[in-house]
Amino acid sequence: MSKTVIALRESRAGLPIPPADAALRTGPLADARGRALHDLRISVTDRCNFRCTYCMPREVFDAGYEFLPHAEILTFEEIVRVARIFHGHGTRKFRLTGGEPLLRRGIDRLVAMLREALPDADLTLTTNGSALKSHARSLRDAGLDRVTVSLDSLDDATFRAMNDADFPVAKVLEGIEAADRAGLAPIKINMVVKRGVNDHQVVDMARHFRGSGHIVRYIEFMDVGSTNGWRMDDVVPSAEIVRRIGAQFPLEPAEANYRGEVAERWRYLDGGGEVGVISSVTEAFCSTCTRARLSTDGHLYTCLFAQRGYDLKSLLRAGAADAAIADAVAGIWQRRADRYSEIRTAETARGRKVEMSFIGG
Ligand code: SAM
Repeated sequence: MSKTVIALRESRAGLPIPPADAALRTGPLADARGRALHDLRISVTDRCNFRCTYCMPREVFDAGYEFLPHAEILTFEEIVRVARIFHGHGTRKFRLTGGEPLLRRGIDRLVAMLREALPDADLTLTTNGSALKSHARSLRDAGLDRVTVSLDSLDDATFRAMNDADFPVAKVLEGIEAADRAGLAPIKINMVVKRGVNDHQVVDMARHFRGSGHIVRYIEFMDVGSTNGWRMDDVVPSAEIVRRIGAQFPLEPAEANYRGEVAERWRYLDGGGEVGVISSVTEAFCSTCTRARLSTDGHLYTCLFAQRGYDLKSLLRAGAADAAIADAVAGIWQRRADRYSEIRTAETARGRKVEMSFIGG
């Protein structure tokens, strides 16, 4: 087994769970920097059918890579229980992700269970779109509100090279159309921009989706995990992206929909809709980050760039009462002080962080 794979496994050991402050065990929580616990991203599988070079490079995630055995993965009942506990702490936004969430068998049943348990929640899912055509209707019927679809290029050769699974653009576009027909709108299209790889596609993507009601969001290539060979030189700053699009289709800044929104919004002056940019490298938004992440194996992470999480699954499986798990979540969140992107250096970027496919993008 390679050193990288051994290190990836070691990074899964849980941190000790701190006690909650008695006065704040239930109800809305704030962390050590005053940030609320508003969103929970739930990774439902660590597997993916793509091998995007910036996320799950084939050299590491190859035939010999050991994904989590089924017994280690949270069951649907466990996921719903955790989601309900988060809801009790004021969390209203839940996103299913992975890995590729549509690979998890019965995913629409999980959506239906979450919808029944949390009728007022905003329930969304992020997918690579490869199986969206056949899932869109059943996901909507189960109660999903919206989807975000990742698509890094409209140029087939570029896209096939980036997903490293020879998957064609046309099928993802069919998935987006099916999601639109099913009412999973507005659809967000995530494009991770890497200099010299797909940045020549920035304006084409804008042109293609202008006027469709879908919102393209350009994401700066990030130093998540420790296997994607990240270098600052590969990052195309959001300011440059806005400049390039604006030169073709004039843009103006738009107000955030809510405090803590990840994407900065830009509106076309001619009414063609909007695009977003996610600048987690060049303009860190840690100060408004309200997101927690639940990994496929039931660990809670308080930052996308964390090295370790807190083992909630052991509590769930040891028969802990809901109140005890709620206390654990409170204790973890109250002590949260993460602000990785604000203090990123070349040194921290080389650190051994947990992989995005494992804790959920
Ligand atoms: N499989 C699903 C998908 O493709 O959307 C969900 C998981 S994926 C990890 C979630 C998002 O993270 C995708 O939009 C992906 O492009 C993005 N992502 C992965 N690695 C990234 C990186 N190093 N920098 C920026 N975004 C990244």
